[in-house]
Amino acid sequence: MRPYFAAALLFPAALHAQALRDQVRSWREAREPQIVREYSDFLAIPNVASDPASLRRNASTIVGMLQKRGVTARLLENGQYPPAVFGELRTPGATRTIVIYAHYDGQPVDPKEWRGGAPFSAQLRELRGTDWVDMPVPASGRLNPEARIFARGAGDDKAPIVALMYALDALKATGRTPAINIKFFFEGEEEAGSAHIVPILQNNRALLAADAWLFCDGPTHQSRQLQVAFGARGSMGLELTVYGPARALHSGHYGNWAPNPGMLLADLVRSLRDPDGKILIAGFYDDVLPPTAAELAAVRGLPPVDSALRAELLLGATEARSALLAERIMLPGLNLRGMRVGQVEGLAANAISTEAKASFDFRLVPKQTPDHIRSLVEAHLKANGWFVTHAAATDAERLAHTKVVRMTWGAGDEATRVSLDQPISQALTATLDEMLGKPVLRVPTLGGSLPTATIESTLGVPLVIFPIANHDDNQHAKDENLRLQNLWDGIEAYAAIMMRLEAHWPRITP
Ligand SMILES: [Zn+2]
Repeated sequence: MRPYFAAALLFPAALHAQALRDQVRSWREAREPQIVREYSDFLAIPNVASDPASLRRNASTIVGMLQKRGVTARLLENGQYPPAVFGELRTPGATRTIVIYAHYDGQPVDPKEWRGGAPFSAQLRELRGTDWVDMPVPASGRLNPEARIFARGAGDDKAPIVALMYALDALKATGRTPAINIKFFFEGEEEAGSAHIVPILQNNRALLAADAWLFCDGPTHQSRQLQVAFGARGSMGLELTVYGPARALHSGHYGNWAPNPGMLLADLVRSLRDPDGKILIAGFYDDVLPPTAAELAAVRGLPPVDSALRAELLLGATEARSALLAERIMLPGLNLRGMRVGQVEGLAANAISTEAKASFDFRLVPKQTPDHIRSLVEAHLKANGWFVTHAAATDAERLAHTKVVRMTWGAGDEATRVSLDQPISQALTATLDEMLGKPVLRVPTLGGSLPTATIESTLGVPLVIFPIANHDDNQHAKDENLRLQNLWDGIEAYAAIMMRLEAHWPRITP
């Protein structure tokens, strides 16, 4: 019964979805240069935390962009911190409400490092050989879909904001109105760790009420296909200081007698993680859930990218050789961000340093809490003979203990991961499958961390991640860019979501 029903229902719907996609595509094909010019104007507004006036100008510009499209929009103020932008489009008869999240702030820039020296003057470029060449934006006609717009924020994360606007325009131009209630929430402090998002969420609970959040940030798959991610790893930072002698000592006169803090630190680092990335801290994996059958099937169904990435990155080997990247990021991770002791090369001195420092980031998976991880790591160090302190070690502590380490923890964020068979997961993938005419890629989790746990735990709402930016967009670095085809794909996908998500997401009345 069910297959018959599914086929009978899906077939006309699929045709309808593809007709929608084709019409949105034709609409966009007729105005590509115009879209690039308008996007460039938006990118010209600097969006770094050190320039709050410009951040605010971004927010008010987005309010204008929404209002121009008939969306009720305003700022959600947050004291001295950047406001969020809220927009709402109510659809008579719709039974579902979705909040679409993106952020308008970007990472800091150093203009000297950027090609052209102006991170906020958007520039269209095409790859010729191995060089990105500046291209004028023509008055009309089609653009090379592999061309890219270079500017801070182009990929992370103004791309979804403009793609949503053009999806609304395309629907209107083709005589449609969205078939679901849509709320927009555009944050202005994501790159600063969403440090003050909680009061905005708490103060606007009713306004933000929804069945699910669609979190539009992060990369599409390395194969350049669209992907839905059902979670993101949490993260937590750790800074360590290991103590040596009270003053730096001559390594000839005191070597082999005075402990070298650099060597002690190297032993400490080596005790945390094996060469395959397995974390050696007792109990670290106790809370880690094995992947579900659906998650494993999703990972195995992803296009193979590992060998191409390995070649591109000049890696002679990867950790845990047989495992795929997509499987590895479903596990917790421990990364050594940096180590510092003494000096090297021209500044190297034959001395035993007074201290050595290391910086780590942990990546957490569902059920691992920052508190629990902290206690496991500290217990591990104590079991290995370390005296652990959270303040600068006193003289008495340094005299009384063989090995002394100071630990400074970051606040930490938990991971999120919704099940692949949650109603929102099923509805979103069905909508995109139908639009694409083939299954959208399903990724159980992104490796990176997003403020998803904060939103999920504050509002108690399921959250799925739908990124549109190219994976190689240099986000957070110089020469950030957006590949045009990613913007075009994003417009078509958002139009499909606005028109078809509700139909795939029946509200079951008891
Ligand atoms: Zn981002």
